[in-house]
Amino acid sequence: MMSLCFAVCAFLILAPCTAAPRDAAGGAFIRNKLLLISFDGFRWDYDRDVDTPNLDKMAQEGVKARYVTPAFLTITSPTHFTLLTGRYIENHGVIHNMWFNTSTQEKKQYYSTQFVDSYWDNGSLPIWITAQRQGLKVGSLHFPGTAATYRGETVKVKEVEPQFYDYSNETDWRWNIDKVIGEWFHDQDLDFVSLYFGEPDKTGHKYGPDSPERQKMVQQVDRTVGYMRERIHHFGLSDQLNMIITADHGMTTVLRGGLVEEIILSKIPGFNFKDITFHLVDYGPSGMLLPKEGQLEKVYQALKGAHPHLHVYKKEEMPAHLHYSRHPRLLPIILFADPGYVINGFLPLQFHKGEHGFDNQVMDMKPFFRAVGPDFRKDLEVEPFETVHVYALMCHILGIKPEVHDGHLNSTKNMLISKESTGETNNPQKMSLYQVVIGLTTLTAFLALVFAVTATYHVSKRKASRSYKSKHAAVEDHRDTRF
Ligand SMILES: [Zn+2]
Repeated sequence: MMSLCFAVCAFLILAPCTAAPRDAAGGAFIRNKLLLISFDGFRWDYDRDVDTPNLDKMAQEGVKARYVTPAFLTITSPTHFTLLTGRYIENHGVIHNMWFNTSTQEKKQYYSTQFVDSYWDNGSLPIWITAQRQGLKVGSLHFPGTAATYRGETVKVKEVEPQFYDYSNETDWRWNIDKVIGEWFHDQDLDFVSLYFGEPDKTGHKYGPDSPERQKMVQQVDRTVGYMRERIHHFGLSDQLNMIITADHGMTTVLRGGLVEEIILSKIPGFNFKDITFHLVDYGPSGMLLPKEGQLEKVYQALKGAHPHLHVYKKEEMPAHLHYSRHPRLLPIILFADPGYVINGFLPLQFHKGEHGFDNQVMDMKPFFRAVGPDFRKDLEVEPFETVHVYALMCHILGIKPEVHDGHLNSTKNMLISKESTGETNNPQKMSLYQVVIGLTTLTAFLALVFAVTATYHVSKRKASRSYKSKHAAVEDHRDTRF
C-alpha cells in the first residue's frame, strides 16, 4: 500500500517537469510566441525625418538595430525567403521576384510567381514548415512564399492576398492585425505568425524615398505599430508574444531628367539582342542575360566597361559578398547598376522615382530592424547584422531545431535576455501557472500520504482491537457496533 502510494506521488511530482520543453543546456524552457512582421521597403533611416512615437516607444521597450543588411538581390521575394530560411539567395534559389523559363520565354510577375510551387520548394524549407513538423502551430498572412506548398505541406493557417490587392489601405491593415492577434494568437493559440505589409515600398517607388508621400506612409506604419501593440496588450499577450519588425530592402532615388546618361543596352556598341537567347532586363537596377551558344564572350566583352555605372559579371565571377553566383537558375551574365541607375533594354520603360535591387552594401538598401517582447532586452541598440541571421534567432526563440542555414545565432543573441539567467521566470504569467501546477501536485502528494498514514493507522488499530476483543469478548461485545 505504502509503496504504491509512493510511486503515484513520485509520478505526480515529476510529471509536469518532464513534460516541459527544455533547452539544449537542459534548463527549463518556456516557449513564447513570435510574430515576424515585414513592412516592405522600410529603409533603416525612414524614422529620421518623421515623428514615429510608436516605433520610438517600441525601441525603448525593446531592441533596435542601427540597420540590417539584406541578401542580394535586394528585391522582395528573394530577401523575404532569406528571412524565412536563413540561406543566401544563391542557396535557397528564389533568385528573383519573377519566375521564368528560358526555353519557352515565358515570364511570370511577382503575384503569379507566388503560386508556382516548384519555384519556392527548391530544397530550402521555410521556418513555417519546420515549426509545424516539430509540433508548433503556425500562420502566415500575405508574407511572400505563403501560397506555395513545400514537400507536400503548406502553412496550415494562412491568408494569401487576392490579385490586385490594395496594399496601402490602413483599414485593411487593422483587419489583418485583428485577425492575427485576436483570432490566430489569442483564440487559436498559434505559436508563430508571419505578417506582411506592402508599404512603404509602393509609395517609395511611386514618389521617391525623400517625398512627403513616403513620410506620410511611414506615419501610417507607425500608427499601425501602435495599434498592433495595443491589441497585443488588449488580449493579454504582452508577456507571451515576441515581435520582430523588419523589411526586405530599402529604397533609393532614381536619377533622371537629363541629369545622367541612362543605361540602355541596345545603344551599347558591339552589343546586339540577336546574340541573346533570353533576357531579364527592364526590371530596375539588375538584369540577367543568356547569350546564344558561343556568344557569351562576345556579349560579355561588349558590355564590360561600356557604361561607368553598369557592373557586368560572368555568373561565376560575381563578388563573393553578394552570394549570388552559385545557383543553376542564375543566368551566365549578371548585370547590376550603381545607385540611382536602372538597366533598360531598348528604351526606358519604367518611370519609378524610387528603386531597390542594388548592391546590399549601399546604405539606401538597408532595412530597419526592431524587436520587443518577453525574450528581448529593453532599450538596447545593437550593431548592424545581416538578415540571413534572423532565421537562427527565430528558431531559438521558438525552441525548434533549425534546418541547414547560412546564419548564426551569435550575430543576434546579445539582444536576448539570457535563458540561463531567467529560466522559468522569463514569463511571469507562465511562471505563475507553472507554480500552480507544482503546488497542486505537491498538495495531491501530501493528501495521498496523509491518506496512507491514516489508513495504516486504522488497520493497525483494528488488528489491535480484534486481539483485545478475542481476549475480552464476553465483556466488550456490545462495543463492536461502534466500529
Ligand atoms: Zn520589397
